[in-house]
Amino acid sequence: MSEPERFEVLILGSGFGGKLLAWHMARAGRRTAVVERRWIGGSCPNIACLPSKNEIWSARIAYQARHAAQFGTMIGGPVTTDMAQVRQRKRDMVEREIALHLQNYKASGAELIMGSGRFVAPQTLEVGLNDGGTRVLAGDQVFLNLGTHAAIPNVPGLGAAAPLTHIEALELDYAPTHLIVLGGGYVGLELAQAYHRFGSRVTVVERGPQLMAREDPEIADEVQRILGGEGIEFLMAAETLDVRGRSGGEVSITLRTGAVEQKIEGSDILVATGRVPNTAGIGLEVAGIELDGDGYIRVNDRLETTAPNVWAIGECAGSPQFTHVSIDDFRIIKDNLAGANRSTRGRLVPYCMFTEPPLARVGLSESEARRQGIAIRVARLPMSAVRRTATTDETQGLMKVLVGADDDRILGFTMIGAEAGEVMAVVQAAMLADLPYTRLRDAIFAHPTMAEGLGSLLENVPLAAGSRRA
Ligand SMILES: Cc1cc2nc3c(=O)[nH]c(=O)nc-3n(C[C@H](O)[C@H](O)[C@H](O)COP(=O)(O)OP(=O)(O)OC[C@H]3O[C@@H](n4cnc5c(N)ncnc54)[C@H](O)[C@@H]3O)c2cc1C
Repeated sequence: MSEPERFEVLILGSGFGGKLLAWHMARAGRRTAVVERRWIGGSCPNIACLPSKNEIWSARIAYQARHAAQFGTMIGGPVTTDMAQVRQRKRDMVEREIALHLQNYKASGAELIMGSGRFVAPQTLEVGLNDGGTRVLAGDQVFLNLGTHAAIPNVPGLGAAAPLTHIEALELDYAPTHLIVLGGGYVGLELAQAYHRFGSRVTVVERGPQLMAREDPEIADEVQRILGGEGIEFLMAAETLDVRGRSGGEVSITLRTGAVEQKIEGSDILVATGRVPNTAGIGLEVAGIELDGDGYIRVNDRLETTAPNVWAIGECAGSPQFTHVSIDDFRIIKDNLAGANRSTRGRLVPYCMFTEPPLARVGLSESEARRQGIAIRVARLPMSAVRRTATTDETQGLMKVLVGADDDRILGFTMIGAEAGEVMAVVQAAMLADLPYTRLRDAIFAHPTMAEGLGSLLENVPLAAGSRRA
């Protein structure tokens, strides 16, 4: 092995947390290198959050154009979507994102090395450079921000069918005639709705008894009802037995639901059944970095791995799979390196699914609270009761809140409805401030906003046993 080039900070993978750390360290004068094999800036701006939300927005415009007459705007003739233009708009955004990233690398002084890294010794990487040759790099401190990739379930014929993952689905320049989506989680549902709105027939095949396994059944049912009402077909509790044909041409899938077997025919198949960490085959064992049983890097609550001076960030560390968590992992590591003692324990992690209407959640679901034996009070409000929706016709969905049975703490909030992510942030702020729910209930919200619904929702919280309303 050639003598390694030495860096004070060496980062493998340029996901969100990793690149922020690189820019921060380099700006602080530390000699910093980032090794990235493909996506400048990681998944979020290239193939995940931003591209998906970009195309979902295009799908929303298509939907609104088709329903414009309801609002008094007449569009002469049928509405059609040019998928090449949808893709181009997304590609233009990604280009702008990459340019911004390159500017940040340049301005911070962090070196971006395009190539695939693997450990050849503790704290030492060999990088196969994308444009030929290798470099060997050693870091005084090493950070892993490797991300995950789409799992392809072990179903006979599925691999040979060359299924789409989210990466290829976001690069299509046509709307499939009949898109079969394996997986009813948020990636599958967001793309299912987008493609349906672009004009595809869409069938979602879900192995479990409900969509979105981590949500309460009533929430999952409501999402299914809304998407089903738009024309998306669902096959629930359906095991995929085999796949024949090729995505992009003709595919046929054999499914078993209970004792019944059926075949469905489609033109394209999208796999959205979960994620696999990018930790295999990169010599982590040589560097003393242990994995857990699912292949994620074993870390403590300070994101330190089992090897000294090596940290892991984001999805590869088993953190919740969201960009805002990768960013928070960065903040924890940065602060701890500066002498703080921050931990990943007890983080309040909000999230949104960007269907229309969107779903947003922060804190516990009712099922989680009951499983954990936490006594709760539950209140609900249909979105049709929020006056704002009378003006926009966005009456679908509901708000649901969990409050402690014996104290007035807000323990969880879920909303399916327009602006759900923004309304959730209000509740999140109250939870972080430990406000009793009554402070929000009695607050004056501007009329007519979606957040105004929070007052009505919280009015529905049953009084705690033995207490009387002032
Ligand atoms: C379709 C889709 C939509 C999503 N939408 C949202 C959303 O709306 N909101 C949200 O919060 N989250 C969303 N996510 C999740 C989000 O994209 C990730 O949680 C986020 O990007 C954080 O990822 P990360 O920092 O762990 O790593 P990543 O951003 O995945 O970065 C890891 C990087 O490491 C590189 N790499 C891996 N191994 C090597 C190696 N050996 N050598 C060199 N480089 C390597 C990879 O090429 C990659 O660029 C979505 C995900 C998907 C798939």
